[in-house]
Amino acid sequence: MSDEPAPASMRQAGPRDLEIVWQDGHVSVYPVAYLRRACRCASCVDEWTGAQILKAEQVPEDVRPVRIDPVGRYAVHFTWSDGHTSGIYSFDHLRAICPCAECAGR
Ligand SMILES: [Zn+2]
Ligand SMILES: [Zn+2]
Repeated sequence: MSDEPAPASMRQAGPRDLEIVWQDGHVSVYPVAYLRRACRCASCVDEWTGAQILKAEQVPEDVRPVRIDPVGRYAVHFTWSDGHTSGIYSFDHLRAICPCAECAGR
């Protein structure tokens, strides 16, 4: 047993939204442009300082995931329509950035 968050299911909820239902029953709906901007790969966030390199305005509003591939049991890899391919999102990170009112209020 681990207390890592894990998705029970993941689906495209609309042209701009990705929905994750977590094993604890929580539902997260992410606008995909928001997810793209939350990328923490070395070209989006400085590995050493944690400073954001990627600017929000560099991400087109109509960006969308072209592919979503599982990475082991703890993360997913997104291939984006803007050509960005190096983003790996741990479930931990995804759960932490859940934009719902309940999570955002914490
Ligand atoms: Zn990135
Ligand atoms: Zn939430």
